[in-house]
Amino acid sequence: MKDTRIVKGVKLVKQYGATRALNAVDIDVKAGEIYGLVGNNGAGKTTFLKILTGQTMADAGEVSLFGYTGESEKNRARKRIGALIESPGFYHKMTAEQNLEYYRIQRGIPGKDMVPRALEEVGLLEQRKKKFDKLSFGMKQRLGLALALMGDPELLVLDEPINGLDPAGIIEIRNLLLRLNQEKNITIVISSHVLAELEHIATCYGFLHHGRLLEQISAEDLKAKCRSYLEVQVSDRERYTALLESKLHCRDYRVMPDGAIQILDESIFAEDCGRLAAQHEIAITSLAEKKIELENYYMRLVEEAN
Ligand code: ATP
Repeated sequence: MKDTRIVKGVKLVKQYGATRALNAVDIDVKAGEIYGLVGNNGAGKTTFLKILTGQTMADAGEVSLFGYTGESEKNRARKRIGALIESPGFYHKMTAEQNLEYYRIQRGIPGKDMVPRALEEVGLLEQRKKKFDKLSFGMKQRLGLALALMGDPELLVLDEPINGLDPAGIIEIRNLLLRLNQEKNITIVISSHVLAELEHIATCYGFLHHGRLLEQISAEDLKAKCRSYLEVQVSDRERYTALLESKLHCRDYRVMPDGAIQILDESIFAEDCGRLAAQHEIAITSLAEKKIELENYYMRLVEEAN
């Protein structure tokens, strides 16, 4: 079977003096994914992205790009990557268009039409004659994306492109990334320190913390883990769980260390739990509908790792 992994990092290590920025990190990004790399400041996100773009080298471990592992092959493969890592040095007194043209020539990207195409892609064609310092913050971010898009990349590597944007700006960038992914089939690796920012677009997540990858999980699996559940406390736990199984045919439940019973079976409602207890003279001391929020899930992973 064809390997669909565009990026495969195996046991990547990066050390800066006494700081281990990446510690045996395994990351896989498959073709067509929007991979959300989530982590607090200093987690190692930028370091990983820079290894992808060749701006820095790993001290140990291996990264393959588009299936290539050799350094010269990887350098060629990097032409298929568009990146926005840290602020690109745009010239404030040059227009949006002039800035892109400057970088197009500097990077040896053929075709003058690349510039208007990239501007159009990010919705900045009308602003092309505006000087960079007259663009709004959101427009500046989009210009950075246009720069990354020149050369028709297959993989976009974006370091916190949503950081600092207002809610409308966040939605704009999100929609743009979704469109690039769905219509142009561009694979995207995007980092953020706020999980919720990536919630509506990521198809897979990698949670980094102090240089370690705590978990890599598909959006679908994460959603399943974050579903709602019922939490019940009863006077006779053993009898109640036996009744849950025999009378309500519930298999998907778990008993927590504090004695609470979490019922994950979505066909069972709070009324069913109450009725079951009443019919068998078991007292319910608490009954609540709960939901694991995405952000809480991540916070819990971090707490467990500390
Ligand atoms: P942020 O969101 O703050 O950018 P990050 O998750 O992108 O965080 P990195 O920038 O990869 O994290 O940094 C990981 C660790 O490595 C941090 O402790 C940082 O201080 C350190 N580090 C990064 N680059 C260098 C460098 N060039 N020299 C020394 N230390 C560095």
